[in-house]
Amino acid sequence: MSPEPFTPPATRVAVVTGAARGIGAATARRLAADGHHVAVVDLDESQARATADEITAAGGTAIAVGADISGEDTVTQALERVVAELGEPTVLVNNAGILRDNLLFKMSAGDWDDVITVHLRGAFLMSRAVQRYQVAARWGRIVNLSSTSALGNRGQVNYAAAKAGLQGLTKTLAIELGPFGVTANAVAPGLIETAMTQATAARMGVAFEDFVAAAAAEIPVRRTGRPDDVAAAVAFFCSPEASFVSGQVLYVAGGPRS
Ligand code: NAP
Repeated sequence: MSPEPFTPPATRVAVVTGAARGIGAATARRLAADGHHVAVVDLDESQARATADEITAAGGTAIAVGADISGEDTVTQALERVVAELGEPTVLVNNAGILRDNLLFKMSAGDWDDVITVHLRGAFLMSRAVQRYQVAARWGRIVNLSSTSALGNRGQVNYAAAKAGLQGLTKTLAIELGPFGVTANAVAPGLIETAMTQATAARMGVAFEDFVAAAAAEIPVRRTGRPDDVAAAVAFFCSPEASFVSGQVLYVAGGPRS
């Protein structure tokens, strides 16, 4: 049997972007419960602090970092703080995201650019910044948040393109970083109950309860998702046990997607 060539560091420092709320906050809490020291990164540091304080109150270790993950300088500064206050990160969850939905004929170039910039440029900049610590440690995990929208979704040409792009990014990171003990995978959720989907329901003029009930009726397991459902999938990819799983896209959608 060939030996495991890469071993995780004694302390695993994880960076989770967009972790002030929703899926990112659930992921930060879950990774902390699994023993990671967690940097809770979000645009608004005071909101990120609420998640970090929750983790600390539960006995974990976390810091809040206010940063725009789509800026080269802001990413550099955020990582400098993580290294100084928590240590060198070996786990990265690229979760931060925005929606700017509209039908193609009504979508502005600005709405296209904003979505592509946050999801794709953000994940690229964060991955490039964190990989140097992962490569130095000869161990690492990157998990990117894709979506079922990557398969196409009315009103989301920008978001669908970004989420499909993240799958290509993931597979390429897996190829380039695998020889250094770093895996890269994507989690692609279906409808998860968060502020993001509440905003979608509001934009469509539908009460959130009705929006969720209609979606659940179409989902094989007859419910919509919760942030913890996604956090559990992310936690698997981040675990040392997942060292032979890389470049994969896991749909967390209550039924099959392809
Ligand atoms: P959410 O509740 O809207 O949370 C996203 C967080 O990301 C917010 O706190 C947001 O801050 C932050 N953020 C946005 N732009 C940022 C930037 N440039 N730098 C740093 N932080 C930024 O979203 P969610 O529903 O938890 O979704 C999390 C991820 O899962 C996203 O990538 C989303 O596309 C993906 N996803 C969600 C679903 C779903 O059904 N909810 C399904 C599939 C995929 P602000 O509030 O200040 O903007």
